[in-house]
Amino acid sequence: MRRETKLVRYGRPALPGPANPPVVRASTILHDTVESYVDTKARREEDDGVLSYGRRGTTTAHALMAAVADLEGGEAAYLFPTGVAALASSLSAFAGAGDHLLVVDTVFHVTRKLCETVLRRNGVSVDYFPWDATDLGPWIRPETKAVVVESPGSQTFEVMDLSSLTRWTRDRGLTVIADNTYGSGWLYRPLELGCDVSIVAGTKYLGGHADVMMGAAAARGAAAATLRAAVIATGQTLAPDEAYATLRGMRTLNLRLERHQENAAALAEWFAGRPEVSAVLHPGLPSHPGAEIWARDAEGCNGLFSVVFKDGFPLEPFLDRLEHFAIGASWGGFESVVLPISPLHDRVHAYDLPAGPAARFHAGLEHVEDLIEDLARSFGDG
Ligand SMILES: *Cc1c(COP(=O)(O)O)cnc(C)c1O
Repeated sequence: MRRETKLVRYGRPALPGPANPPVVRASTILHDTVESYVDTKARREEDDGVLSYGRRGTTTAHALMAAVADLEGGEAAYLFPTGVAALASSLSAFAGAGDHLLVVDTVFHVTRKLCETVLRRNGVSVDYFPWDATDLGPWIRPETKAVVVESPGSQTFEVMDLSSLTRWTRDRGLTVIADNTYGSGWLYRPLELGCDVSIVAGTKYLGGHADVMMGAAAARGAAAATLRAAVIATGQTLAPDEAYATLRGMRTLNLRLERHQENAAALAEWFAGRPEVSAVLHPGLPSHPGAEIWARDAEGCNGLFSVVFKDGFPLEPFLDRLEHFAIGASWGGFESVVLPISPLHDRVHAYDLPAGPAARFHAGLEHVEDLIEDLARSFGDG
């Protein structure tokens, strides 16, 4: 079955029945015999889809777990109340007191915060390596346990060569954990490039409608068992209504991404031709760092790109004048949003970026001409 068809079929109950798995709200699951209770507890250790207790997910969450695992090419997937919760649980599962963690410098800023606060407090040491490193020799230590990657990088979108990197990590006993929120399992599958865990903030494109918070971590091999044990021991779960809303969003993941990609590519090209702009950061532009790797490893781009304006450009009033781009954190909903950014403020390595105010745009599903007219108006054209 092809991927588009799978998006339609994920979680479909037996017929006759509804097209969607129903929202099943439950804490206790009732049994009429002790034998049934004991048997269920035994079976759930072999099968994440066994209905045993609300914290382990009901049939609604089980349908979503199977869907995300399949989308990412994982053996299993686990659910969390936010993307950050998925990152926190996954990093903690693979690095404890005395361990060393290597994190790509272009990582999502909250992941860095997690490393610098909770993980350090728990005795984990952390170093940041440049996005284009495929040999971690200069940063590795005997106690290095895991590598955290994100491609393209947050806000600046540098593309990592994950298959070369995982060729290097493979024989060194390192677990490679990817933040795959950009690709969301549809555009990009880090597990197929040799990573062990792939995390998606389903808050973004899986939910897709700016009304769900959720995170998921898919895994393969030995990492799947480690992650599972950590999820169970820390009581991570996703409420049935949120699982339902995420799966409903996923039905149109492919179609939405097509339009997000088309609109973002058109806007990025349009911005690149503007005299007010000194750089456009978008992994689909041929001049972008790692663009040829993205073209090789991924199936397109999403709705994100960033713009660096000329030094002294009055960014704030430009953004305030926009009608179709509201100012807001997060992205991946149906609507266009924009946010002023300072992508280099917490980075430790050098970047080839011009000085000047910058903004990250998310192109929504609006007609692209309305978006371009809005931007042109705000620049003061016509
Ligand atoms: C948004 C985001 C997250 C966090 O997801 P939340 O659901 O907001 O906690 C993690 N990683 C990346 C790359 C993100 O963009």
